[in-house]
Amino acid sequence: MAPSATSPPPTTTNSQPIDLGSNYVQIINGKSAPTEHVRHGINPASLEPKPDVPVATQADLDRAVDAAKAAFKKWSRVPYEERRAAVLAFADAIDAQRTEFRDLLISEQGKPIPQADGETDAAIEWIRGMSNIKLPEDVIEDNDKHTVTTRYTPLGVVAAIVPWNFPLLLATGKIAPALLTGNVIIVKPSPFTPYCGLKVVELAQQFFPPGVVQSLSGDDNLGPWLTSHPGINKISFTGSTATGKLVMQSASKTLKRVTLELGGNDPAIILPDVDVDKVAEKVALYAFLNSGQVCLNLKRIYVHDAIYDQFRDAMVRHVRAYALGDGAQPGVTHGPLQNAMQYDRVKTFFDDIERQGWKVAVGGKIEAAPEKGYYIAPTVIDRPPEDSRIVVEEPFGPIVPLLSWSSEEDVIARANNTSMGLGASVWSNDIDKAARIGRELEAGTVWINTHFEISPIVPFGGHKESGIGAEWGINGLKSFCNVQSMFVNKHVVS
Ligand code: NAD
Repeated sequence: MAPSATSPPPTTTNSQPIDLGSNYVQIINGKSAPTEHVRHGINPASLEPKPDVPVATQADLDRAVDAAKAAFKKWSRVPYEERRAAVLAFADAIDAQRTEFRDLLISEQGKPIPQADGETDAAIEWIRGMSNIKLPEDVIEDNDKHTVTTRYTPLGVVAAIVPWNFPLLLATGKIAPALLTGNVIIVKPSPFTPYCGLKVVELAQQFFPPGVVQSLSGDDNLGPWLTSHPGINKISFTGSTATGKLVMQSASKTLKRVTLELGGNDPAIILPDVDVDKVAEKVALYAFLNSGQVCLNLKRIYVHDAIYDQFRDAMVRHVRAYALGDGAQPGVTHGPLQNAMQYDRVKTFFDDIERQGWKVAVGGKIEAAPEKGYYIAPTVIDRPPEDSRIVVEEPFGPIVPLLSWSSEEDVIARANNTSMGLGASVWSNDIDKAARIGRELEAGTVWINTHFEISPIVPFGGHKESGIGAEWGINGLKSFCNVQSMFVNKHVVS
């Protein structure tokens, strides 16, 4: 069933659904690889333990790397159209089980049904979307003397290191471009959310030869083992800026290629001419999506003085209408934080409310008992000082500062006054003016009158300490490749 240079591409008709409800295994060389030790995640909505997952050893990693290297020799030579057909069939197989994946995602990550639907559909769409991007050889020069082309050749063994906030999308979003470009991949899900990642790789075995797509499920040791392993050629990392720096440091010892998709502190600049109620609704949506646990959440909201009070009151009204609870329940708009570590970190911002004398516009209290789930009510802080933690740091939780401005020059400087540079948005009825301000912003993605609009065909990456390189789009595909310049002389040496 898996493709080779001689077998026909697989189709969905020969794929078998897998059991997503139990038996979470890591896959080495096409087979389940049991471990002596196991661990488990927790459903953040109930704090109930989820099933056991393996804890990989260094020997498991060595075996996976050996299998990957052997598989790479063949997979990199499989014709592109055949690789693409296998990748698309894999997307179809996930699609055939999309509701099961969606429910597994909710139970491990905590996000509400509509957002889990969004992530699951995107996880499939990202595979299909990237399969439609062509990466041809570029002809640089073609004259009487020679033809010079730029070729994009695969790097070899890729390790995908995935965070806990988008465990499904960020796994498929790395698997697809790696395989399309002829690489092989070892996926390491976050220990907090290992379930969807392990099942995606298990399902992939029906479409790819052994060793092409593997998974390792580990504890905190596994990431550093991957980044320092001499047999791995590239690290595709998504996570925090602090960990990203460790990844780069470790990868530098073997000059592994790295793509780092890191934290953000996205500003929104709201001009005085907007429809206050409608824009406040959207801005609140993007500030509190996934309970503030998105790299691209709005994390600093700059509202023009002339509409500040009106905008704050509208935002408060919209936030009050949110329903906090178990994401699996219909009608819930905002789920719990994903894990105890994050819950404890976000709580420190709530401790600062009293300590620093911040004014609360809405929320401000951690009401639910922690033993029932990691719930925190969405909270807006009304004009805290510009140098306060809530403005300077990424809380990665449902608490956001609302700030005011009056001079365009000043607000642009404040928006850029951060070591982060992931996303930014400008909101105005004067689109030209908003776009002019947008061009001044130091961020990998800038939106006018929206935020967090992403696409598999659009490159995504951070400026400054928000990352290095890009994933998705043609730049994303190229990030899985070496650049090879080839001079073909038209005359033999005589
Ligand atoms: P994290 O950095 O703690 O962990 C990310 C992954 O790295 C996990 O799989 C973890 O096990 C692994 N890891 C931990 N220590 C490691 C080490 N020393 N070496 C190698 N791997 C290691 O991040 P998180 O808490 O899972 O995710 C939240 C952060 O990720 C936020 O800062 C958020 O903004 C960022 N994020 C960025 C993007 C983006 O595309 N830019 C997307 C999602 C999340």
